[in-house]
Amino acid sequence: MADTTTASATASLLADASQHLTEAFKHTQLSPDAITSLQQPKANLAVSIPVRMDDGSLQVFSGYRVHYDNTRGPYKGGVRFHPQVSLDEVQSLAMWMTFKCAVMDLPFGGGKGGITVDPKALSKLELERLSRGYIDAIASFIGIDLDIMAPDVYTNAMVMGWMMDQYSQIKQRQVLGVVTGKPLSLGGSVGRDTATATGAFHVIQTVLPKLGRDPQSTTVAVQGFGNAGSELAALLCRAGYKVVAVSDSKGGIYAAQGLDILSVREYKRSTRKMQAIYCDGSICNMGQARKITNEELLQLDVDVLIPAALENQITAQNVQHIRAKILFEVANGPISFTASQTLVARGVKIFPDILVNAGGVTVSYFEWVQNRTGWYWTIDEVNERLRNRMEKETEHIWEIAQTQGISHRTAAYVHALRRLGTAIDAKGNQD
Ligand code: GLU
Repeated sequence: MADTTTASATASLLADASQHLTEAFKHTQLSPDAITSLQQPKANLAVSIPVRMDDGSLQVFSGYRVHYDNTRGPYKGGVRFHPQVSLDEVQSLAMWMTFKCAVMDLPFGGGKGGITVDPKALSKLELERLSRGYIDAIASFIGIDLDIMAPDVYTNAMVMGWMMDQYSQIKQRQVLGVVTGKPLSLGGSVGRDTATATGAFHVIQTVLPKLGRDPQSTTVAVQGFGNAGSELAALLCRAGYKVVAVSDSKGGIYAAQGLDILSVREYKRSTRKMQAIYCDGSICNMGQARKITNEELLQLDVDVLIPAALENQITAQNVQHIRAKILFEVANGPISFTASQTLVARGVKIFPDILVNAGGVTVSYFEWVQNRTGWYWTIDEVNERLRNRMEKETEHIWEIAQTQGISHRTAAYVHALRRLGTAIDAKGNQD
């Protein structure tokens, strides 16, 4: 369970996240209506989920689903299973989803869900009962045209399959499109599992040449070796970048000559416990590389730093030690507002979460479209459409940053706000 330090660290997350928005508002000509309506979520649902545990006891878990904004389409966003989940965190994540979907021009608003739980401590059956119980509790708040769920930290295709099935049982018909990131056998899309990493890779490949960098002479450190971080590290390694450090929740490794990421992935897999649902192995004892802490990884003298774990990793406390000159946020909200301002003032380029990790929700959109039409795409079609969208929106944001002389984060918000503001104004006054 979250300790008090963690709880207080996340208590101000939405307030912190909103400061990016306030900053971006200054660079738009949006109507006051648009500004007022985007500063808080439309609705928050908090539920208690009773779960019968394998030993016969009953445990009650806290769950949330937040509807932030639906001006551009149904609410859309993942469900997180983590001990640190709180309403404040889910609201912040829902806010970021709103802007992420607008950045990518997807016909979605923003939402998010979460359960306060350590999923690694549950058996597979307990996890399934928890996932289905969550859907029972929020069923009237979600729907194919209302609010569409997806994977996030410690939820995966298996969990999405259970959730879709539970919702379909309640509705007494199969409703594939209420959840994305499902198993392929249950209406999932090819390419969804690797979409976040692939999207981030396209952003990196689009901007680094503009900053005069080529793969061979670029050193990279990646914090977080989950679905997105490990896949992205592998893509970068294959493209010739020198990935010198990676880490997971237990610690990291460093090798000045570069790491062979496929071997690191293999090592992590080999250290997991038999039958484990989550990869509970760790990379941190791998030989041939120096063991480092997560904090040391963030402070490495590398060209590119990629936080791909959780929010609030770079804050006022450690920002003065950050030496990388270019950062790509693959996690949601890894850099606090103050830390971000400090880095930008130092000339550091930060490419923000709402662009960099948007490949995941983009292929979620593709999955939703495929479910609705019943016409399934090939991996080449998915990848080509993903690449086009990532490159196009990255170019847009680059252009806005150049012409308005603002940071790439502010430019991304300005880009999203223009789309959101136009939609809010087009709806007119509903009083
Ligand atoms: N959880 C992912 C995110 O934060 C994906 C959301 C989705 O596919 O709806 O972007």
